[in-house]
Amino acid sequence: MTYVKVCPVCNEKNQVESLTCFNCQHNIAGVLPSDPDLIIKNREEKAVKLFFEYLGESYEITNNEIIGRSNTKINFSRLKTISREHIRVIFRGNEWSIEDMGSSNGTKINGKSCEAYTEYLISNGDKIILADDAEIVIKLQ
Ligand SMILES: [Zn+2]
Repeated sequence: MTYVKVCPVCNEKNQVESLTCFNCQHNIAGVLPSDPDLIIKNREEKAVKLFFEYLGESYEITNNEIIGRSNTKINFSRLKTISREHIRVIFRGNEWSIEDMGSSNGTKINGKSCEAYTEYLISNGDKIILADDAEIVIKLQ
């Protein structure tokens, strides 16, 4: 069994002798080595599911899913202001984030405009507004 040090910031597995994370350079000198099989098991048990609530319906969203008029899970076909590929949803290190994919009319989180192709962490209860026309409420469970 080869033990590893898991970076608390990005969840990268580092060699036990590492002092900084090779992925994000976080200081991991004080992180205790752990059994990699156990880490994977714990992470799966903890995994948080993401739901988008829109117009009274709840939709489970998965990693790398693209939300926009091209996606038929949430039907935005009548909202022409929403881009075909408006945002992408990302799950990493047990946290969810979204990124605007260069949409024509932009994305806001809790009223604040997002920069295109930049990841923003999302939390339970956050409001995402696509093109000022569709408000989605985040539910994590
Ligand atoms: Zn890291």
